[in-house]
Amino acid sequence: MPMPTKDNMIRALSANGGVVFCGLDSTEMVREAERIHKTSAVTSAALGRLLTAASMMGMMLKTEDASITLRLAGGGPAGTVLAVANGDGCARGYVQNPVVELPLRPDGKLDVGGAVGKQGTLSVVRDLGMKEPYVGQIPLASGEVAEDITAYYAVSEQIPTVCALGVLVNPDLTIACAGGYLIQLLPGATEAEISQIEQNIGKMSSVTALLSAGKGPEEIMQLAMDGFDAQLLDSRRVGYRCDCSLARVERALASLGRAELEEMAAEQEEAEVCCQFCDKKYRVPLKKLLAQL
Ligand SMILES: [Zn+2]
Repeated sequence: MPMPTKDNMIRALSANGGVVFCGLDSTEMVREAERIHKTSAVTSAALGRLLTAASMMGMMLKTEDASITLRLAGGGPAGTVLAVANGDGCARGYVQNPVVELPLRPDGKLDVGGAVGKQGTLSVVRDLGMKEPYVGQIPLASGEVAEDITAYYAVSEQIPTVCALGVLVNPDLTIACAGGYLIQLLPGATEAEISQIEQNIGKMSSVTALLSAGKGPEEIMQLAMDGFDAQLLDSRRVGYRCDCSLARVERALASLGRAELEEMAAEQEEAEVCCQFCDKKYRVPLKKLLAQL
């Protein structure tokens, strides 16, 4: 799978340590998602926004072998939209119904909230490698993704957060650009800092307008963190990545239980399993799998 050729995710911290910024140019990641899932314009935007958010939230976990799963279930025509990211920021995902066509909103934007639906939940599962994963769930704010992520942090984690996400789709359904940023106020942030961030954000164009104008995550950070003397914490290259393997597929099949597998083996030599994240096909000889149980 193609990875971007240069660092596309950065994190920065204000000089006094009260405000943390994470920015991502996820264009290549969302292009890969569109190539795999053959999404329509509005589902490219829904899945692309969720992948972008998951990738940044994965980076916030601070441990590379941790993972985060975002599941949007809003009752709209797109069905469930799901994205998983590892602690290194690489992400994968899918949308239940990849082909949904909706008229543009009155403001000319893709109707992501209409495709996702507004009657449902955003669930966030953080697996930090402990016994039990941490699960948070909130009612959807708008189904537009960024507002739902902001609401999740406010309600479930009590972290004041600004989230901006954008995916620009070309008329031929290819992805022109995609990206986003997360700004979080750490405990101790002052009212003055909060209003300064709000002022900065108020003056900024949309993420896709900034990316289209050739601005990268670092330049977007300079605009959002104006007046905070922000220092770059780290930068890295993240993309679309699936961790599936024959061993994982075999484990999933084995979990069906002996009785079910014997039933399948009576009808077919091999089970054909298609990875829902990357479309890779696996063929598992069932007799051999049964012999290993
Ligand atoms: Zn896969």
